[in-house]
Amino acid sequence: MKYAESIVDLVGGTPLVKLNRVVEGVTNATVLVKLEYLNPGGSAKDRIAERIIEAAEREGKLKPGGTIVEPTSGNTGVGLALFAQQKGYSCIFVCPDKVSEDKRNVLKAYGAEVVVTPTAVAPDSPESYYSVSDRIVRETPGAFKPDQYSNPNGPRSHYETTGPEIWSDTEGRITHFVAGIGTGGTITGTGRYLREASDGRVRIIGADPEGSVYSGGTGRPYFVEGVGEDFWPTAYDPAVPHEVIEVSDAESFAMTRRLAREEGILVGGSSGMAVVAALKAASAPGVTADDVFVVLLPDSGRGYLGKIFNDKWLRAYGFSNAPEGHTIAQLLA
Ligand code: PMP
Repeated sequence: MKYAESIVDLVGGTPLVKLNRVVEGVTNATVLVKLEYLNPGGSAKDRIAERIIEAAEREGKLKPGGTIVEPTSGNTGVGLALFAQQKGYSCIFVCPDKVSEDKRNVLKAYGAEVVVTPTAVAPDSPESYYSVSDRIVRETPGAFKPDQYSNPNGPRSHYETTGPEIWSDTEGRITHFVAGIGTGGTITGTGRYLREASDGRVRIIGADPEGSVYSGGTGRPYFVEGVGEDFWPTAYDPAVPHEVIEVSDAESFAMTRRLAREEGILVGGSSGMAVVAALKAASAPGVTADDVFVVLLPDSGRGYLGKIFNDKWLRAYGFSNAPEGHTIAQLLA
């Protein structure tokens, strides 16, 4: 019989699929996307949850009956909740209020407790999601805070799994790797592996929301979730990407909708953002039909049905719907 012993044994090994319609007229390069929403918890964060919890157990930071406390925009929480369940830990997650209610309800469905904090406050404010989670850690006996922003097991999990999967599935023919930057764990771990495996041949490209510090912004707010920052986390090694391309919310959301409608790929806004950055890079001079771009798509669109995929929400926030018959050149202009 072919089956997994437990749901957590199904993390990783996600497939690559080629983009067709959205690349037409933009580039001759092959553009492949890696579907991280096919992980059991629905995102790339399942990978880091596994490594982070196992390392904490080994180091004695997480003991039987302990509680995992983490500020998370949702996906890391789901990954941690999955592994916590298997191992008998409790979870308390702190989310900024810009995170959709759907995503918060998913965390609750897995048995976690969720605390909501305001988005529009400085990181050092006592109300910020970083400060609130620190307070909960101090007040909860047996608490362990994975701190995905500084935990080296985040980038390590991508170095050990995501990178080798991409290298092997492309038979070493990948020329460009593109990923959004949130904690920076994905691009740091995967990018480092691919640089080493290719002797520096693979170009590593970060995608970042306009306003975020990684692409030179001030840290001002933006709507795309899970990526960009207003500070520099240690999980991110800025020496790994060769370049970081900034993408507006409007471009990210328009591409996210096109991926669903034209490619049948229902993903979140940070995925649309990464594809926009990839197409900008793939339409640059010097890119040829021999180039193979791999773009990591972190999560599913199901958590954004009330936002990115809701015309009323888009209009209310000033992101008009992509016009019918638009060309990619117009979208990326
Ligand atoms: N997209 C989404 C939806 C995310 O939740 C995250 C994680 N914050 C990212 C992208 C970025 O991944 P990383 O933290 O590894 O940079």
